[in-house]
Amino acid sequence: MNVQFVDLKAQYLSIRDEILEAIQAVMGSTAFAGGPFVEQFEKEFAEFCRSPYAIGVGSGTEALWLALKTLGIGEGDEVITVPNTFIATAEAISFCGATPVFVDVDDKTYTMDPEKLEDYLKIRRGKTGSPNRLKAVVPVHLYGQMADMDPIMEIARAYDLFVVEDACQAHWAEYKGRRAGSIGDAGCFSFYPGKNIGAYGEAGAIITKDPVMTERIRTLRDHGQTARYYHETIGWNARMDGLQGAVLSVKLRHIYNWNNARIKNARFYDELLSDVSGALTPKKGHDRTHVFHIYAILVQNRDALIAWLKKRDIHCAIHYPVPVHLQAAYGFLDLGKGAFPVSEKCAQEVMSLPMFAELTENQMRGVVDGIKEFTQKKQGS
Ligand SMILES: *Cc1c(COP(=O)(O)O)cnc(C)c1O
Repeated sequence: MNVQFVDLKAQYLSIRDEILEAIQAVMGSTAFAGGPFVEQFEKEFAEFCRSPYAIGVGSGTEALWLALKTLGIGEGDEVITVPNTFIATAEAISFCGATPVFVDVDDKTYTMDPEKLEDYLKIRRGKTGSPNRLKAVVPVHLYGQMADMDPIMEIARAYDLFVVEDACQAHWAEYKGRRAGSIGDAGCFSFYPGKNIGAYGEAGAIITKDPVMTERIRTLRDHGQTARYYHETIGWNARMDGLQGAVLSVKLRHIYNWNNARIKNARFYDELLSDVSGALTPKKGHDRTHVFHIYAILVQNRDALIAWLKKRDIHCAIHYPVPVHLQAAYGFLDLGKGAFPVSEKCAQEVMSLPMFAELTENQMRGVVDGIKEFTQKKQGS
């Protein structure tokens, strides 16, 4: 049985006519870089996130970078995030000229542990001699589930830190009825093709409640210009393509159905896996809606299991095999093994099962049967 990790073609075929119509509209009006299709999507996306403003940019990485930059993060500053994330979270901090500082995740949701955040800040406050360059906290809403935002916000405010939510995997996830990205000073989204709302290319967005910040980001993403060829500050080209804006507007109409299908699929996996010993299924935090960008389980012998399934044409993935603090790129931070045990355990044992809206029950049965055969073979040998 063939089961892809994500099947973007199945989704495309289900909305083909709408997409082609939207693309034709862009071609007909030649609004390719920024323009009315991006503006229209920004309006719709802001509403969807229950946030007053949304700004379309070129990628999720750019969204994070521009949000931090606009909040004034720069050379010599430090920004707290988690090691259990995609590298882009840390890269955005580094691209501002700042240094990422890590606190570990909790062992249930694998998102930022507020207690560890507070412990770290207490230690830092106690230290004298070095000026406090800590400026912001970037919690990551991993796999489609938001971090524990109430205590994170409370701690951040007590220490005078900005909060930028990395919501790149969490379109429409909720925490106590509030949408991902809408709680902190800014929320950053990716529309990389495989995300819950994916462009047909690269795209991202920032949401915020702050009109001044919105204007600054709009200026920065467009070469720092306030009028054509009048450049107020040094900016960058970080605009969203018109084609992506139009495609994303179409896809936004379907996101509720797609996310609900993911949630239903996750429940089905939970059920099927309930009698498989040694497979730890995802846990949802209190008062949260998990939109299952990734359905990740923890198992021993992860690599052998993935290879076993691959022989059966079932394709899994690993998010992520190396925590950020152990990446070669961040070797200069000198954070060795053992620094963040929960993140390191995740990196060793986590595997992501095929997950997308169009996945069938039969395919999910195939995946779990493969896992069962593997564990039985192991017990028998
Ligand atoms: C995808 C992702 C990003 C980066 O988004 P791009 O659009 O690929 O630049 C950042 N953070 C997390 C957690 C992501 O999953």
